[in-house]
Amino acid sequence: MIDRLAIFGATGDLSARYLLPGLTALWTAGHLGEGFQLACADRSDWDTERFRSWATAQLERHGGDYPADARKAIVASARFHRADVTDPAGVAAVIAGDRPIAVYLALPPALFSRSVSTLHRAGLPAGSRIVLEKPFGEDLDSAVELNRVLAELVPEDAVFRVDHFLAMTTVENVLGSRLANRVLEPLWNSAHIAEVEIVWDERLTLEGRAGYYDHAGALKDMVQNHLLQLLCLVAMEPPISLGERDLRNRKVDVLRSVRPLTGEDVLRRTRRGRYLAGRIDGHEVPAYTDEDGVDPSRDTETFAEVVLELDSWRWSGTKFRLRSGKALRRDRMEVAVHFRPVPHLPFGHSGDVLPNVLRFGLDPEGLTLDLTGTGSRARTFAPLRLTAQMPQSELPPYGRLLLDVLTGNPALSIRGDEAEEAWRVLAPVLSAWSENLVPIEGYPAGSDGPAPR
Ligand code: NDP
Repeated sequence: MIDRLAIFGATGDLSARYLLPGLTALWTAGHLGEGFQLACADRSDWDTERFRSWATAQLERHGGDYPADARKAIVASARFHRADVTDPAGVAAVIAGDRPIAVYLALPPALFSRSVSTLHRAGLPAGSRIVLEKPFGEDLDSAVELNRVLAELVPEDAVFRVDHFLAMTTVENVLGSRLANRVLEPLWNSAHIAEVEIVWDERLTLEGRAGYYDHAGALKDMVQNHLLQLLCLVAMEPPISLGERDLRNRKVDVLRSVRPLTGEDVLRRTRRGRYLAGRIDGHEVPAYTDEDGVDPSRDTETFAEVVLELDSWRWSGTKFRLRSGKALRRDRMEVAVHFRPVPHLPFGHSGDVLPNVLRFGLDPEGLTLDLTGTGSRARTFAPLRLTAQMPQSELPPYGRLLLDVLTGNPALSIRGDEAEEAWRVLAPVLSAWSENLVPIEGYPAGSDGPAPR
């Protein structure tokens, strides 16, 4: 286990809300020893004392549930370095030492490639690891280039392209439900499953994140990474093991099996939208284009939907609908597996008999199964919902992924070829949307999104 972590971008939002609390969770669970060292780097003109008092306040706000001594231990392990990540001398001072170090780039994605080159020049100790946040590149070409630069710095198994959705308990729910039970896997194919919806719909609006989001949009922010990753887990063939090689090989197979979208497919099977002024939970919400920092000429979408099909023996004939939107009427975060209707009903009518749906909740995490059960009157049937709560995980997603980084287990990080395949799947969509071939539909904030076609 590596016992040194450097965070570049240490005074940013990700660090405050997720990395410092994730480390505190690791400390609480006994995964970090007394010798753990945290090097925190940023451009701010701060010293260690000022950083520690800021970190203490952030942990009270975002990690207040963890014991005070764990929060104190993480704060005490931190040293602050003023360093620009493009300056080799400054970076060398942050990573100085002979022992391997894990380097977390909690930086604007546009800086990833230059940061990696700077680390190379600064001299990263042998055995070190590097962690990159999403989005990994902004299209296929930039992802290929970033992979090339990374390969010059460290071996592939030392690169952690993190996607925190893969550290959610939901992933274990999907894998466990499919692979540790007999009841589902025989039905897990296109003969029984008509459609899988992978949905992240939220009431949240821009929340002051225009600087990042207005350059990304819903397709790059959610679909290209989180939702395609979930597609891989739902659709992959059972791997031999959950080791990094077997698991990631099976995930790449799924991405490679996605039927390439033609120009006609993009018109028929993709939708993009942007919220207009409206009301959510009784509060006025301005139109996206009136939010602070938004440049309307970018035509950034706040709603994206893509329907994919897989060319494989198991899945030919099933639709996979990936969708995410902001400022919607209700939160709906789930993987919903819609089974086909029964082939024959031995009753006079079918009015109350609905197809079965299995839902893996992403937030809140849980499992529900919609069946048809007995109605209150004799020989009648009615919808029946079975619900299971999942046990609370000891570690939050960022705690789990930091543990994987420090212990050197890349199974749930995205491999280089996987990142490239994910961009390849969406390349026709990105190209058609950038040429405005698919109109951007306005939807009132607080609605259900663009009207279905
Ligand atoms: P922020 O803008 O809040 O933080 C970025 C940090 O990087 C800032 O502290 C910034 O300092 C620093 N920085 C910028 N340029 C340099 C430089 N040249 N040298 C050193 N430091 C620099 O962004 P986030 O924390 O929100 O995001 C960081 C990464 O995490 C992004 O890749 C994002 O996509 C990803 N992410 C973020 C999530 C979140 O909820 N915030 C969730 C999932 C992923 P300064 O203030 O001086 O500019």
